[in-house]
Amino acid sequence: MPDHRLLKSLLIKLIAYYWVLLIIGLYLEQISNTLWVGSLVIILINLKEFVEVVNWIWHSPHKRQVKNNSYWGYIYRGIDKSLKANRKRRKSLIAALSQFREGADALPDGIVVFNQDNAILWCNHAARQFLGLKWPRDRGQLLNNLVRHQEFRQYIIRGDFSQILELPSPHHAGVLLEHRVTSYGSDLFVLMSRDITVLNQLESMRRKFVADVSHELKTPLTVLHGYLELIDDSDNIEPLMWKKAMSAMKVQTNRMQSMVEQLLALSKLETTAQANASAISVDELMALIKDDASAIIGERAITINFNLMPNLQLVGNEEQMLSACSNLVTNAIRYSPDSSTIDVGWHKVDGGVEFSVRDNGLGIAEHHLNRLTERFYRVDQSRSTQTGGTGLGLSIVKHVLLNHQSHLVITSEVDQGSRFSFVIGDDLITQP
Ligand code: ADP
Repeated sequence: MPDHRLLKSLLIKLIAYYWVLLIIGLYLEQISNTLWVGSLVIILINLKEFVEVVNWIWHSPHKRQVKNNSYWGYIYRGIDKSLKANRKRRKSLIAALSQFREGADALPDGIVVFNQDNAILWCNHAARQFLGLKWPRDRGQLLNNLVRHQEFRQYIIRGDFSQILELPSPHHAGVLLEHRVTSYGSDLFVLMSRDITVLNQLESMRRKFVADVSHELKTPLTVLHGYLELIDDSDNIEPLMWKKAMSAMKVQTNRMQSMVEQLLALSKLETTAQANASAISVDELMALIKDDASAIIGERAITINFNLMPNLQLVGNEEQMLSACSNLVTNAIRYSPDSSTIDVGWHKVDGGVEFSVRDNGLGIAEHHLNRLTERFYRVDQSRSTQTGGTGLGLSIVKHVLLNHQSHLVITSEVDQGSRFSFVIGDDLITQP
């Protein structure tokens, strides 16, 4: 009802009431007393209504109260309407807040909201995991008291958040966390903790790789540089010396070339998983390997027995498979002394077919076995260098096998020989 109409209706009712009082007063010949009593009644009724409305608003606003009488009914309906609107607004705010919290809870990064006194106002699931916080138990607790790491405490207490802090997680061994704090509002801060373990491992792998490649290139480059200086300094070089220099430089350039080729092969393997898969005829593959093996054996007295499964066909990348098998056979030849025997074969086993290369050569001590497929890892640096090894062959084999859902199995005994094998699963065999 508009205000002026309400006022009009109230005035009419009041005038009518006092008219009635006046008539009663005239009738009783007690006009002033009747008017006093009538006014007192009105005041008492309104006081009672006032107390009721105050009780309702202060003590049970959630209970709906409806009154239809006069202007108090109008007040009740107005209050009821605004309470309803408030309840609706509150509900939608609570829904928005819980949606926001659920979203923040699902984040992989830890989030802690705290105030100027470092009291925790809220933290998400990841923060509880990373920092060992408990929710809601730790609400209002000081962040610097709860996280058990001296450097972290000082970082929070100092309050200078211009730098990022990297620390091991106080609750998970081996997990490295990156903490950064941003301020918002007038006195609020948000701490974001990110798990950078993998990133850190990748970074140290990258650093190690650069260091390894530089180290590998250093020796051949030093040899080449030495000979070039010798040639430069001497006017008359004896033919024998020339021959020696040329042959040494050739060996070193070949070494660098094969290293670069193998590094390129590795990088291709890592970026193109299972590329160009086609049917591979194992007979044809092994024919190529046999030719390569005879060329490498040359005049040496090494016997290779090939024990193959005829007509075997696999699905995979032919170039990669050839490189993996050939690396294993070549290694067996390179690391076997003269008069030894090597057995190469494909056999049916449970769940697939197995390729194996067995030699009775030098063998490898057990503590090296886990590390053989690492880039540039060699059991014996000088032995590998003599045989022209780059330390990348088995790393290539490992990646090829990963691309074919397989892995390398190595068993070996020093001075007895080694066996390198892998199984190609039934799902990649098209013809047994
Ligand atoms: P490399 O090019 O040096 O041979 P690989 O990655 O092929 O590199 O092999 C890593 C190391 O594993 C080699 O340096 C060698 O010490 C050892 N190795 C590999 N195959 C054999 C084998 N059949 N017998 C003995 N040692 C081997």
